[in-house]
Amino acid sequence: MAKILLNKENLFYNFDVISNKTGSKEKVAVVLKDNAYGHGLIEIGTLASEYGIKKAVVRTIDDALKIEKLFDYIVILAEKTFHTYSHTFHIALNSLEDINKLPKNSNVHIKVDTGMHRNGILPEQIEEAFLGLSKREINVTGVFTHHKGADELSTNFFWQKAVFSSVKENVKRICEQLSLPLPAFHSCNSAALFRTSNFDESFARVGIATYGYLDNADIFKFPKLKPVMSLWANKLSSRILKKGQSTGYGGKYIAEENIVISTYDIGYGDGFLRLNERKSYTTPKGYKVLGRVSMDNLCLNTDDEKVCIFDDVNALAQVHDTITYEITTTLNPNIEKEIV
Ligand SMILES: *Cc1c(COP(=O)(O)O)cnc(C)c1O
Repeated sequence: MAKILLNKENLFYNFDVISNKTGSKEKVAVVLKDNAYGHGLIEIGTLASEYGIKKAVVRTIDDALKIEKLFDYIVILAEKTFHTYSHTFHIALNSLEDINKLPKNSNVHIKVDTGMHRNGILPEQIEEAFLGLSKREINVTGVFTHHKGADELSTNFFWQKAVFSSVKENVKRICEQLSLPLPAFHSCNSAALFRTSNFDESFARVGIATYGYLDNADIFKFPKLKPVMSLWANKLSSRILKKGQSTGYGGKYIAEENIVISTYDIGYGDGFLRLNERKSYTTPKGYKVLGRVSMDNLCLNTDDEKVCIFDDVNALAQVHDTITYEITTTLNPNIEKEIV
């Protein structure tokens, strides 16, 4: 089967750049949701812990349980059952209705909607949230927000930042009144972190930059990062395609001369999105994907035993008119991972 190689040196390089920006490793929360953006929850969790990262962000408690031993502090973004209490876990409160579902003594990060209008309570509901949570003996250990467009040139970023600043002031006042300890404040994803000149929050939630990507990096003159993942496929079979013959579904690739072609064991069933005759992709070594990608294989103009399908997904993201996140996250979690 195809294999994903994870480049430890590149990952650690990215962590160097990121922790340099936050000021310390303690201020980095590595975002491991969705199988670490397709890179492997356990693999990246283990490497991040080895590097010295203490905080992680996941989607569910089940994911948090899998990495509980690796981190001191885990933020859980989108749990609805709240079934397990753990000292390490900090659960996001995405709406006021959820206050009554949280177990006593749990740690909660209140998510505030500062303009994305997706999840979180409104800035004017913050006091109500604090009162409701403290009545139920739940600890507010964090207050956070998320940017809708930190990677785009627009005023959204600054607008949301200003709204969150006023939320912070309000929270400070509430905590003083209720004699509660001040919670952690965090608002930055990767792009927001690198757009912030004097980072002064408790930590940043860094996803895509960990894996070596930042969209619109050129516009903002973001530092260069190194892709962590490369995808390798093995040859299934070779043949000579004679001039005029076609290969694959629909016969969309037709040979202009006699050529050697081979199939490789990666396809859209593995999450390598389908390419068709209108979308052309060439591997790093210059082999062209010929015709349509099948469910379990694709065809290249080579007979190499092993081929690197990609070592940087920017080109594929362009081919598919999407973002790097989608290319790596879509890969089937069953693809074997090897740390190199
Ligand atoms: C996914 C996510 C992040 C990470 O975003 P990147 O752009 O990958 O750095 C941070 N915070 C929240 C709430 C998220 O959902």
